[in-house]
Amino acid sequence: MPKKYFIETFGCQMNDLDSEKIAGNLLHNGMAPADGPEQADIIVLNTCSVRDKAVQKVYTRLGELKQLASRRKDLVVAVVGCMAQLEGEKILKRAPYVNVLAGPQKGAVMSDLIEQGRREHPAIGLRSDEIPESLETQYILRQNPWRASVTISEGCNRNCSFCIVPITRGQERTRKSTDILREIKDLASKGYIEIFLLGQTVNSYMDRVEQVSFAGLLRRIAAIQGIKRIRFTSPHPNDFTDELLEAMVVCPQICNQIHLPVQSGSTRILRAMRRGYSLESYLKIISKIQSASRSIAISTDIIVGFPSETEEDFQDTLSLLDEVQYDSVFSFKYSPRPYTAAFNLLDDVSDEEKKGRLEIVQKRQKMIQIRKNSTYLGLRLEVLVEDKARSRVSLAGRTSDNKIVNFDGPEKLIGQIIQVEIAGFSPNSLKGIWIDSSV
Ligand code: SF4
Repeated sequence: MPKKYFIETFGCQMNDLDSEKIAGNLLHNGMAPADGPEQADIIVLNTCSVRDKAVQKVYTRLGELKQLASRRKDLVVAVVGCMAQLEGEKILKRAPYVNVLAGPQKGAVMSDLIEQGRREHPAIGLRSDEIPESLETQYILRQNPWRASVTISEGCNRNCSFCIVPITRGQERTRKSTDILREIKDLASKGYIEIFLLGQTVNSYMDRVEQVSFAGLLRRIAAIQGIKRIRFTSPHPNDFTDELLEAMVVCPQICNQIHLPVQSGSTRILRAMRRGYSLESYLKIISKIQSASRSIAISTDIIVGFPSETEEDFQDTLSLLDEVQYDSVFSFKYSPRPYTAAFNLLDDVSDEEKKGRLEIVQKRQKMIQIRKNSTYLGLRLEVLVEDKARSRVSLAGRTSDNKIVNFDGPEKLIGQIIQVEIAGFSPNSLKGIWIDSSV
């Protein structure tokens, strides 16, 4: 009987893809997926450390697994990913039943680590000098038959003062454009129609040997037969070029949506965050995007309560929301992360104040989204049907500009691009009527 594994993923899209790489490696080495943790011989927690809350969530989950581990002496528990890299052997002190600790780049050697962890408890694969240079992964067990995530770079050279990523994922490494294009051609031949390019600062991508920039890479992917949609995350404002905007305007396969993290509307706070741009230079980029001949939806990330953020700084962030009219905003309370430059700053905005500011941002943005979504009423849009909907209507899909559309229709539509007419809206989604072209 093959050993069975169960993977629980916390965090971002890159972690989702890392879990697919881990699953591919385990499957290739003779293991099989389990239906749940109770049925598994190996439990892998693929973790996140971007905020303290994400770290505490994993410790809570480890606490829940304690009983199972004490009942099942042969159970292998692996903690992998960014939180494992950050917390290191502290995890073993709190959860001595953990057999494997591994950083985020270990998917391709996971079965070896698990075997080692089974024999000589615990196996540790954390040292940053062991990060493999190559980002190529031979085996990936993809969860979705029409949309595939593809890593084009990993790590980050920017060192924003609040961010743990350069510590957990290391310095930026990029893949060869020829390898990326070969992978995507292979995906297209297998029926994948949407490609999601991943990198910590995805648009800083440059293949120096072949002289292929990020915009050049997008154009080459758009020319691959069968690829209908291309998305990417996360671009950095300083790497947003005219060449990239031009590619987005002329290639309909590149979705007309961009996530451009700003973090704060105050230049003083941006400087303290070491973001490398001022509010004015960020707004210049927004203005270029908004004046493009193709309409492009814009979303962003906001952190409230960064050390020393005054009421005036916070008002600057609210004014930014009013000025840009983002399509969506991911907003968070500042959370100090160890080993970052901001960790040494006085965390002087009280939690109550952070909570209050977060609520104000979210309320303000909700009103903006209600107004923006109301302008979709009556439009006919292309939607890639993704799943059964959570709401009363049966299916959910996504427009090119990243709006969720819920509508009634048969399940066989999942994975297809169809037409819908927008008949309703809420702050976070649209309601549509499927236009059945066969009638
Ligand atoms: S650019 Fe992004 S990943 Fe890099 S340090 Fe800044 S926030 Fe972190």
